[in-house]
Amino acid sequence: MTINVKEISALDRASVLHPFTQLKDFASGKAGDPTIVETGKGIRIKDATGREYIDGFAGLYCVNIGYGRTEVAEAISRQAYRLAYYHSYAAHTTDELATLSARLVKMAPGKMSKIFYGMSGSDANETQAKLVWYYNNLRGKPNKKKIISRQRGYHGCSVVSGSMTGMSFYHDHMDLPLPGIIHTGVPHHYWGAEPGETERDFSARRARELDELIQREGPDTVGAFIGEPVLGTGGITPPPEGYWAAIQEVLKKHDVLLIADEVITGFGRLGSMFGSHHYGIEPDLITIAKGLTSAYFPLSGAIVGERVYSVIEEAADRVGSFSHGFTYSGHPIGAAAANAVLDIVEKEDLPGKAREVGGHFQQCLKAAFAQLPIVGEVRGVGMLGAVEFVADREKKTRFDAGLKVGARISKAARDRGLIARAMPHGDILGFAPPLITTKGEVDEIVGIAEAAVRQVMDELAREGAV
Ligand code: PMP
Repeated sequence: MTINVKEISALDRASVLHPFTQLKDFASGKAGDPTIVETGKGIRIKDATGREYIDGFAGLYCVNIGYGRTEVAEAISRQAYRLAYYHSYAAHTTDELATLSARLVKMAPGKMSKIFYGMSGSDANETQAKLVWYYNNLRGKPNKKKIISRQRGYHGCSVVSGSMTGMSFYHDHMDLPLPGIIHTGVPHHYWGAEPGETERDFSARRARELDELIQREGPDTVGAFIGEPVLGTGGITPPPEGYWAAIQEVLKKHDVLLIADEVITGFGRLGSMFGSHHYGIEPDLITIAKGLTSAYFPLSGAIVGERVYSVIEEAADRVGSFSHGFTYSGHPIGAAAANAVLDIVEKEDLPGKAREVGGHFQQCLKAAFAQLPIVGEVRGVGMLGAVEFVADREKKTRFDAGLKVGARISKAARDRGLIARAMPHGDILGFAPPLITTKGEVDEIVGIAEAAVRQVMDELAREGAV
């Protein structure tokens, strides 16, 4: 099929409200035409003008098995022909859904019991909040409802999940965050540590601050803590040494549930099946999405641990049925897609591959960037990586925001055929390649990124900005 680029661009401009797009510049054409993405194969996508890009971000950290996997397309098609839809209300199920659920309970870290399905990471975190409130109501603690998340944490953009998200631009002008959702300090040693403070000491300080926050609010009013094993959208920032152990100790002390938001880290990205495995996290509730279906179909889940589930089941005689559910909870096509994707994740050992190729990726990032005069920090784990640019390495000062250094580097990479994302909260270039990326492809990705960074570094020198 040949796409008429002009016609589709005009239709799009006239009718699509695009997320994270400057609407006026887009509407007027000042920001250029939309990129019409037409096909994808492996780690590459192609647009309707025939330009090819390496997708160094796996869409939005989600196409872990790469594009164009016909096994998944066939599983989706088979299920659509057989039974396109049935709901999972009132104990209805499908073979794909039951099989998937048993599989996930077995794979997941900790003592997990059941899975509630949604369509997005945001709605799964909405469900998590309701589960926390429900659990504490049912066990006679009606005041234990506040949820603590971290500044720079990302948990979605719906009403509760957007409140959990610790980034002001998700709140401004949209009446968020809701009361009862509180943010604590970012576990980022590079920016947050006092001079000479070790990672362990910094982690202990963050844990102490959490303890003090819970004491201040009143432990009987705090229901849960939510965190991504590795901060994702908040800058791809692995936790400092000892962070999760220290945080979990505080949560245990105050009987506060732990929600691990594994939307990015689930299904292999860090080199273990779940980020919780990687960091020794023992969550009570786990949020999954993205990698669950590698984005071949929208599907998410709130995995409910024994601790919470047993209370909910126990109360059923008293409160009646579990009154929460979406039309598409447990969608059979989503379940079929997830089973086909998990077959690939297991058969091709994508967590193992992410560990091995990820090790090479981290080394390449360090080798290419760590010594550059405008680089403050190179960080990452497995197949997640980031390079943070600063105006002065010694003084740790950021570039003037008006220079848009991160965005310029990301654009320079894109012009050279690589998608790597400019992240918020500074000048950061983020990478999250598909987990099928080979070492050779990693070399290609880092090579293009390095050329882009050097290009912008030269431009900044010419402008007298460095
Ligand atoms: N949690 C995390 C950790 C995420 O990274 C995201 C999406 N980037 C979400 C939740 C929200 O998922 P969705 O965009 O599918 O609502």
